[in-house]
Amino acid sequence: MPLLPDLLIPKAYIDGQWRDAPRHFAVTDPATGDVLAEVPDLGGDDARDAIAAAEAAWPAWRKRPAKERSALLRAWFDAIMAHQEELARLMTLEQGKPLAESRGEVAYGAAFVEFYAEEAKRMAGDTLPSHGADKRILVFREPVGVVAAITPWNFPLAMITRKCAPALAAGCPVVIKPAEATPLTALALARLAEQAGLPAGVLNVITAERPAEIGEVLTTDPRVRKVSFTGSTPVGKRLLAQCAGTVKKAAMELGGNAPFIVFDDADLDAAVEGAIASKFRNSGQTCVCTNRLLVQANVYDAFIEKLAKRVAELKVGNGLEDSVVQGPLINAAAVDKVQSHIRDALDKGARLVCGGEPHALGGTFFQPTVLADVTPEMRVARDETFGPLAPVFRFDTEEQAIAMANATEFGLAAYFYARDYRRIWRVMEGLEYGMVAINEGLLSTELAPFGGVKESGLGREGSHHGLEDFTELKYVCVGGL
Ligand code: NAD
Repeated sequence: MPLLPDLLIPKAYIDGQWRDAPRHFAVTDPATGDVLAEVPDLGGDDARDAIAAAEAAWPAWRKRPAKERSALLRAWFDAIMAHQEELARLMTLEQGKPLAESRGEVAYGAAFVEFYAEEAKRMAGDTLPSHGADKRILVFREPVGVVAAITPWNFPLAMITRKCAPALAAGCPVVIKPAEATPLTALALARLAEQAGLPAGVLNVITAERPAEIGEVLTTDPRVRKVSFTGSTPVGKRLLAQCAGTVKKAAMELGGNAPFIVFDDADLDAAVEGAIASKFRNSGQTCVCTNRLLVQANVYDAFIEKLAKRVAELKVGNGLEDSVVQGPLINAAAVDKVQSHIRDALDKGARLVCGGEPHALGGTFFQPTVLADVTPEMRVARDETFGPLAPVFRFDTEEQAIAMANATEFGLAAYFYARDYRRIWRVMEGLEYGMVAINEGLLSTELAPFGGVKESGLGREGSHHGLEDFTELKYVCVGGL
């Protein structure tokens, strides 16, 4: 078993104190099944304590000059990057992704802290033309208040910083509820925030094995003014409904069903590389992962042949080992879902090109899989697989491709490969998605607004839009001048 890194702290973090609890739950390594740590299983009262600490910290935090908030965020960024290697190892241990991807996630996640350290100084308001000679209109941007951040296991670090950095920059304290599978990276981030000098109560982390009790408190307590959630669409809908009672602001980064369209004028080799990056990264467990490959009929066979060749080269194994590019899936339920999608497609006439079975390594390792002759009647067309399965659909015309791509209740990310610039414009404008990548398989960056339309969510994270989501506008009318 590999040595555990220094930043492993099996305690929750509330009001600047490391808190234990009578009950604990195990965090395991999905590659080996080994227990990495037992962390506190907190309940509703602990959540209320964290909210109280955040509420108490808010007045001083919001009044702190932007330049000071910025300097503290910058110190947090420096601390994260100084511990990139330990954080990456910890993430691979609890989540399973290959070490190179974990290092990439630390850098990506830290980039939000760096970016919003800068943006904190640019939270400008407006002066607007007024409706009377004796009046003036001023518009201030104010922090929304206490923020609850509920995050998923697939990006244990970046989903936290993508919410917390803009919240803290805007002057909001945060209560973080990380996923039960990956709380250790969240707690390590809190340790680094503490070392960077963030005041007590400004950033809190509460861990729990059964999230519903804490979720109920975070979404109904009137002191929480915004819930920022990343996770599945069913849970997001439930939390959104719970937020209605106190009319909280809610940001929802939910599931996807990303199409990846390959037109007959595309550079096929570049499209294959894009598809590999977008489909098999994190073993297919990202919300922007390609879920459906749509390929034009006259390049269909050639594309499948090239794709299958590249997929066969993907090395599966423990993410801590060099040259592994696909780690285990997060748990047995994830494996069941991939298998059920494959079975359903094969039963309805799909053709297995490669993979299709649990990997010989056992546990939750799964073979990277390609299915051909997939049709819209199959489950993979509608449901997010969240695993290493590339189902390839066939289309004839551009209109058909756009219609197939949009035939889903989701609208997070879409990808397409083409060369004709008129087609590129037409297709880009026809896709009902929050994010579109053209001749590119990776699109996440702190510099751009990340988020979806339709049932993929509400709000945007990243860029200056991500900061604005943590503010309210206050209109001030000055009269009698
Ligand atoms: P999930 O919805 O099961 O869990 C997400 C978080 O919600 C976890 O912290 C979990 O403990 C918590 N949770 C679950 N039930 C809750 C409840 N009743 N009250 C309060 N909290 C509750 O999702 P997951 O399996 O962790 O993540 C995978 C999903 O997340 C996929 O659908 C994926 O597409 C989506 N995702 C979306 C984005 C995005 O930016 N749009 C990014 C990453 C993941």
